[in-house]
Amino acid sequence: MRDGADTLAYGECETVIKVALGDRSYPIVLGERLLSSAGQWIAQAVPGARCAVVSDRNVAALYMAPLKASLDRHGLFLGEAVVSPGEASKSFAVLAPLCESLLELGVERGDCIVALGGGVVGDLAGFAASILRRGVRVAQMPTTLLAQVDSAIGGKTGIDTRQGKNLIGTFHQPSLVLADVSVLSTLSPREFRAGYAEVVKYGLLGDAPFFAWLEANWPKVFAAAGAERRHAVETSARAKAKIVAADEREEKGTRALLNLGHTFGHALEAFAGYSDRLLHGEAIAIGMRLAFTFSAEFGLCSAADAARVEKHLSAVGLPTKIAAIPGGTPAPEALLALMAQDKKVKGGKLAFVLVHGIGQAFVERDVTLPRLTEFLARECAAG
Ligand code: NAD
Repeated sequence: MRDGADTLAYGECETVIKVALGDRSYPIVLGERLLSSAGQWIAQAVPGARCAVVSDRNVAALYMAPLKASLDRHGLFLGEAVVSPGEASKSFAVLAPLCESLLELGVERGDCIVALGGGVVGDLAGFAASILRRGVRVAQMPTTLLAQVDSAIGGKTGIDTRQGKNLIGTFHQPSLVLADVSVLSTLSPREFRAGYAEVVKYGLLGDAPFFAWLEANWPKVFAAAGAERRHAVETSARAKAKIVAADEREEKGTRALLNLGHTFGHALEAFAGYSDRLLHGEAIAIGMRLAFTFSAEFGLCSAADAARVEKHLSAVGLPTKIAAIPGGTPAPEALLALMAQDKKVKGGKLAFVLVHGIGQAFVERDVTLPRLTEFLARECAAG
């Protein structure tokens, strides 16, 4: 076992990455065309469980039939519950009828919820599983790039409320993450690109060679066929598994590094109303560039590293400037207020993930409001 995460090659096709959490450890199974063998993997991970599949309408139309066929072959399919696509489904209004549908399907304590979809379905179905009959097992089957490299791994579940995103939720580790890389080929180019921001994040926060590899290989990662896409997903999933194993509940600071670019990014998403104006990954791309520029301005990292980050994000077509958000630029005071809501201000200071360079993120607890205000004023004014 290496640093809490162990990689084993299973046959020719799949890679299994272990999320090492003692008796709650689980495998991330990653490969091509895994939907058709899902029944076998689930039977192995959750013996004796029947499966209720939760998905959204878009994903169900594409992938419910092969998944159901596989589960049926193993006598595991209990039924399905399909929600509307989009962030609005992460709500009490959708959670309550979903839980009731799952009960009506006959989900019992020993059964398993299968979350087939992106981060929205994963967070919602994971949360439903954690409260249904005081907790049933969940298998995550992520179908977006963001979900395969980030949200499906690590057990954070939840829904949004009027007061903010992800404010109601649980830690509920899955029993299995089954990531079929071939389903990424039906994602829209914009959704794929937004998910790629999270892939870049792993390079920037702790793996400089991986960032350099992405700089050289990103066109092949974006091209559907080929080993490079799978390598990017595997490297990211392995990084997430290692961080989760080291700091499951974000108590030691390690997991907080995953928030690189997120304090800026969440404020920008809130400003854009969590709408199509700015996808989560797009906000994170701008946020990561801001974190690097901010670090460079205060002599924490080199200007050359900040420029490299901006160049790569721009090369793949991700936004890097606040002014790139369509429909208007926020006032710096408004952004600051949103950031203060996201992270508690203690003694006029905010905690931020900053960088000493590419692959060297750290948590800085002493960012003062005047420094930040001045920086944001310049960034909001920049074209
Ligand atoms: P999403 O789940 O809304 O999916 C994006 C769109 O792609 C949807 O319209 C969906 O129907 C469609 N789609 C999904 N898979 C597809 C496929 N293979 N082919 C075609 N279309 C497909 O968005 P997302 O970016 O995956 O997830 C965002 C959510 O993840 C946010 O709610 C965020 O808070 C959450 N998140 C959670 C964690 C965590 O640790 N739990 C981490 C990061 C993000």
